[in-house]
Amino acid sequence: MPDTAHQSWQARAEAATFYGFTDLPSVKERGTVVITHGEGPYVIDTEGRRYLDANSGLWNMVAGFDHPGLAAAAKAQYERFPGYHAFFGRMSDQTVMLSEKLIEVSPFDRGRVFYTNSGSEANDTLVKMLWFLARAEDKPERRKILTRKNAYHGVTAVSASMTGKPYNEMFGLPLPDFIHLTCPHYWREGRPDESEADFTARMARELEEVIAREGADTIAGFFAEPVMGAGGVIPPSAGYFQAIQPILRRHGIPLVADEVICGFGRTGEVWGCQTYGFTPDAIISSKALTAGYFPMGAVILGPELSDRLHAAAEEVEEFPHGFTASGHPVGCAIALKAIDVILNEGLLDNVRTLTPRFEAGMARLAEHPNIGEIRGKGLMGALEAVADRETKTPFPADLSVSERIANTCTDHGLICRPLGQSVVLCPPFILTEAQMDEMFEKLEEALSAVFDGITG
Ligand SMILES: *Cc1c(COP(=O)(O)O)cnc(C)c1O
Repeated sequence: MPDTAHQSWQARAEAATFYGFTDLPSVKERGTVVITHGEGPYVIDTEGRRYLDANSGLWNMVAGFDHPGLAAAAKAQYERFPGYHAFFGRMSDQTVMLSEKLIEVSPFDRGRVFYTNSGSEANDTLVKMLWFLARAEDKPERRKILTRKNAYHGVTAVSASMTGKPYNEMFGLPLPDFIHLTCPHYWREGRPDESEADFTARMARELEEVIAREGADTIAGFFAEPVMGAGGVIPPSAGYFQAIQPILRRHGIPLVADEVICGFGRTGEVWGCQTYGFTPDAIISSKALTAGYFPMGAVILGPELSDRLHAAAEEVEEFPHGFTASGHPVGCAIALKAIDVILNEGLLDNVRTLTPRFEAGMARLAEHPNIGEIRGKGLMGALEAVADRETKTPFPADLSVSERIANTCTDHGLICRPLGQSVVLCPPFILTEAQMDEMFEKLEEALSAVFDGITG
């Protein structure tokens, strides 16, 4: 073992940890922020610096970083029964209770839940379920998965194939049979003189054309985030889901809502699909499911898919899939508590109460000439920087504008995330009005400093 006592936390972090989704030149220049603990929506680093985390960790720490009820639920379950699986006809009582609760709070009147350790695995699992179903129903060619460019569905080989980001080319992905449709982002993808309604109609036409080209019998499912999260907080164009769902129905293609970010209150309703007025055939959940206090994902099957999959599994006697920690009792106990905290202890109410203030704060920042678009829903939002507002021309990539804004924020005790040319805000649901004001003040200062520095 090397002697590390004399080294900084930063040097130690970089020496022995392989970083993911991290801009390495930035780390070289600025070092790593090593966090030791949190208080409410704040995190505190090894130097004692406090940061308001306007990204809720990674969208998930919606109850803040020191919720006593969640820690107590975890401790109590660790003492009662610290770990188990859900194979071979055995599972914990907590798993049973969480499945019932998830169906109860879902938009489905009945259904079944399958557990994973992450959102990526939940998407992978549902794709495997759809492939399994296709073969069981004697349609082995029904394998193709439709998603959208800019979508984020995770990083495992299948979910990365669903993710519509150019970086997946670095892995030789997507796998065959993954098709990416146009991102329904009206501001960026709309044509000059095209109304939003016409744009939505074009998105629906594209779907029809892709189904006609590929053959409906070759398509296993369509996956969509109600609001695209890691693609840059992109709400669908008006009427999007109402336009595409009838087409998918007509062709017997399941519509899956990837609610990993939207689920459990982020958009102001429990589910993003409720905010946008559609009922999917299945839901993918993770992130806020445990308020970030345990790694867990869930596939929530609506009644029809649940029945068909159950019949298919009975036919061959088992669904040969599962993770060692699927339905982990501590994770389930924490999720039960998190759902209770979000729904019954005022967190969802607070999202609704804070949303007008959030929108007003965003609107104020939109007055800046170098903000091209503000967008979002509930307590998730993005500000997109542009060099020219009229032509929507981005700043040159090598200026790293959003990174500079985020770095300036970090220097002033605010964590927000650069995403392409945008800066993303998705604060914890426990935020107070004063903390929200602090968030916007710090962001406003950073925006002015960076834009003044660039545009002189
Ligand atoms: C984060 C995310 C995932 C992946 O979840 P992991 O737990 O990181 O694997 C999938 N879908 C969406 C919409 C996400 O935001």
